[in-house]
Amino acid sequence: MLSIDQFYPQLNSPARIVVTMHQKPDGDAMGSALGLYHFLIAMGHEVTVISPTNWANFLDWMPGVDTVIDFEQQREKALGMIQAAHVIFCLDFNVLHRTKNMEQPLLAANCTKILIDHHEQPQEEAFTYGISNTAKSSTCEMVYDFIVDSGNLDKLTLPAAECLYTGVMTDTGSFRFPATSAGVHRMVATLKDLGLKHTRVHDNIYDNFLENRLRFIGYALVNRMEVMYEYNTALMYITRSDLQRYNIKTGDTEGLVNYLLTIQGIRFGALVIDREGERKWSFRSKGAFDVNKFAREHFNGGGHVNAAGGGSYDSLDANVARFKEVIKEYQHQLQ
Ligand code: 5GP
Ligand code: MN
Repeated sequence: MLSIDQFYPQLNSPARIVVTMHQKPDGDAMGSALGLYHFLIAMGHEVTVISPTNWANFLDWMPGVDTVIDFEQQREKALGMIQAAHVIFCLDFNVLHRTKNMEQPLLAANCTKILIDHHEQPQEEAFTYGISNTAKSSTCEMVYDFIVDSGNLDKLTLPAAECLYTGVMTDTGSFRFPATSAGVHRMVATLKDLGLKHTRVHDNIYDNFLENRLRFIGYALVNRMEVMYEYNTALMYITRSDLQRYNIKTGDTEGLVNYLLTIQGIRFGALVIDREGERKWSFRSKGAFDVNKFAREHFNGGGHVNAAGGGSYDSLDANVARFKEVIKEYQHQLQ
């Protein structure tokens, strides 16, 4: 993978460009993809954003989201776009299998592939150019850096600013996680100068759910949470019938795992959800406990030191039992 600055000169030659991100895109994945989309359009390129799967309803207000192709819904059209692309940008993921059924078409595409990402241990050999920086708050911050460092800040528009703000806001827990640097605040200042209405973004993302989701959270906190004080750990498990009973959709469970870390002394929070097809884990920690490593070693996943995910095809009960078994190895680290 060559350094991304070697790609900057090519930004000035109009090209057919595909932008994609990880499956079930979150605020940072969708925000960085659409932020880059608006910028590349302003630079004169022909641009298509392809999401590997559907996404949460709370992202549907984002400028440009109506142009995004869902690979699972429009497979032939998406494959045509991938085959015809001169350049494919891959955002907010480190390994190609995070794009689910797009992994093979992306591998097969014979074009320039560019990675912009902040997760641990990227699959560098799969990309022509790229930047991977785990110290960055978000991929949106990195797309902003890409625009500034390539000398094109004048091509950053208000719609792009709204998209990029979204990912910085969601990936920093609204500007509280340690990666929220002075540079992040300077970036936000620049976006504000462009006319960004930040309250609109917060309201659209965080205060835009249906009643059932809040009742579901209450139910889960009362009935599905186990606090293991001997490990300073809290575990939550959500069954298939819980999801059905409260009509829980993609995105409704986002942020649920963070409640676990609000308990005094708890340093490790783990949530497992019995999704269709697989059991999906979310891990969060405070301090030095490395959940990226934990997810890789035990639950076929990865991510960042303090936020990671994983998956398993075993039953929910088997996953919960395995968690309770492996956590014993970490008692010392979690003190
Ligand atoms: P979340 O718990 O919000 O789904 O994910 C937390 C972090 O871990 C995100 O940065 C996400 O990209 C990453 N992540 C989630 N699931 C997986 C997975 O199965 N594999 C890998 N490598 N990373 C994941
Ligand atoms: Mn991210």
